[in-house]
Amino acid sequence: MLDKVFESYAFSMKHGVFHDLSLASSTYFQVDTLFITPSYAVLFEVKNIAGELTVIQNPPQLIRVLDSGKVSGFKSPIAQLESNCELFQDWLYSRNISLPVYGAVVLAYARQRIEVFDTNIPILFPSAVPSFIRKFPTTSPLLDDKAFADLLSQLSNSHRDFIPSPICETYSIPRRDIRTGVVCPGCGFIGMVRHSRSWHCTACGHADREAHKQAIRDWFLLFGGKMSNKDCRAFLHIARQQTAHRILRGMSLHTEGANRNRTYTMHFLSERKKRT
Ligand SMILES: [Zn+2]
Repeated sequence: MLDKVFESYAFSMKHGVFHDLSLASSTYFQVDTLFITPSYAVLFEVKNIAGELTVIQNPPQLIRVLDSGKVSGFKSPIAQLESNCELFQDWLYSRNISLPVYGAVVLAYARQRIEVFDTNIPILFPSAVPSFIRKFPTTSPLLDDKAFADLLSQLSNSHRDFIPSPICETYSIPRRDIRTGVVCPGCGFIGMVRHSRSWHCTACGHADREAHKQAIRDWFLLFGGKMSNKDCRAFLHIARQQTAHRILRGMSLHTEGANRNRTYTMHFLSERKKRT
């Protein structure tokens, strides 16, 4: 796929390519592929979802219809990419680096059909990626050789160090100071309410069946270690043990113990591979 394209294509400018990059800025974020030069950076969000795809803007969502007629919703690749570009820009700023950051969505299957609202984010097939990259001007590099080499080494270090030490521990934040609740992917409101197996936002009306996934991931990033059913209920604001059980079971976490003593751990690296 995209890694093959970068392996087989020789770019004339100085550059670095990173796949499955995990970085921390104001929050943790993951970049499918980063192409970086001393003049600019390009983030690629890769989608390998089969079927007929439609990206809608409000709420930001990717809707997939299979030939069988089955309809499912996914995170919007455009919203994901825009957010990643901003977070990466912040990541650079915090290192006193100012580079233009561009982005594109890449469709892994050449036969994918996709319909998109009016957006200036390009949607490409892998074979179009090299010529897309070559269009950006490289005449006036913003980083000298040493600064660029430093940046590449920082990126590869961040990459390797992904399995993070818990944020609360690293920054000595007391647990009670952490705001709990499921974040609305539509408007950012904290404290979505669960009913009928879905999460509902009381602020914007958005409904999302999978909003708890980010909350559970955040819990592991914040506190680390093992999550109990009780921890899950407290963090997600769920009353019933059964509900928390069902949610945790649906997240391919590593489990230990049985019944009341069961705990869950998240393995970030293996979990990352399952992304769509
Ligand atoms: Zn909302």
